[in-house]
Amino acid sequence: MPDATVCLTFDFDAISLWAARGLTSPGYVSRGEFGAHAVPRILRLLRERDISATFFIPGHTVETYPELCAAIAADGHEIGLHGYMHEPVSTLDAAKEAEASQRAQEAIRRVTGFEVRGNRTPSWDYTPDTVQVLLDLGCEYDSSLMATDYRPYQVRQGDRFRQDGPYEFGEPTSIVEIPVSWTLDDYPQFEYLRTDIVLPGLRRPDDVFANFLDDIDYMVREVPDGVCTLTFHPQVIGRGHRMLGLERFLDRCAQRPVRFQTCLDAARQFSGAVAASAR
Ligand SMILES: [Zn+2]
Repeated sequence: MPDATVCLTFDFDAISLWAARGLTSPGYVSRGEFGAHAVPRILRLLRERDISATFFIPGHTVETYPELCAAIAADGHEIGLHGYMHEPVSTLDAAKEAEASQRAQEAIRRVTGFEVRGNRTPSWDYTPDTVQVLLDLGCEYDSSLMATDYRPYQVRQGDRFRQDGPYEFGEPTSIVEIPVSWTLDDYPQFEYLRTDIVLPGLRRPDDVFANFLDDIDYMVREVPDGVCTLTFHPQVIGRGHRMLGLERFLDRCAQRPVRFQTCLDAARQFSGAVAASAR
């Protein structure tokens, strides 16, 4: 029985996260800049632990911090799409959605040499056009949806919601979903935000990582060949006390039958199994 898989993912949003919300004053920009400040310490930790991770990087970050993004690729990590300016896809028409991802894909190729095969939508949502956009870009997987926890699955195309009847499920496509969850995302746990809403955040890292670890332990018991995806943001996880929490968490993972993989490797493993079962 193969080990369960943990995918560590880092959304290197930097300034684009705030810019997408119209927050471009120096205070908000500096919060995004901290992400760039924290990337080298995250890369060092991953190097020390010999872990390959996936970094979803908006085109704006790639063009603002080309050396850092090249360093991420040089360390052997996977780079995935995350919009150009962290645009929530639900605000875009089909042409703009395709244009944002194409521009980001070209920037990643130019700056890092990495040939992108995966995507995470900035809003963790889809439009009716998202699957086609991903297929046209040559993507093999996406990591934005939440229909399962430990089982990758095939993303559908052509779903229909009807007010007057049951939901109509479309056809499965070749795009593999590596599912995410807000419960396994550092942003709502830690980030303090006071705009028109208040996100309290600022939780103790050991409490948050205890939840993450319980989800991993449940996977090991119930779905021992499953995949559990954690979402981090350098500008959130990069603070000292959270980095120490992350280090302790990785120590505890090392005591369990889990291995770390990039999302692309996990997706390819899943699509290989689907192809084998169809034979
Ligand atoms: Zn993001």
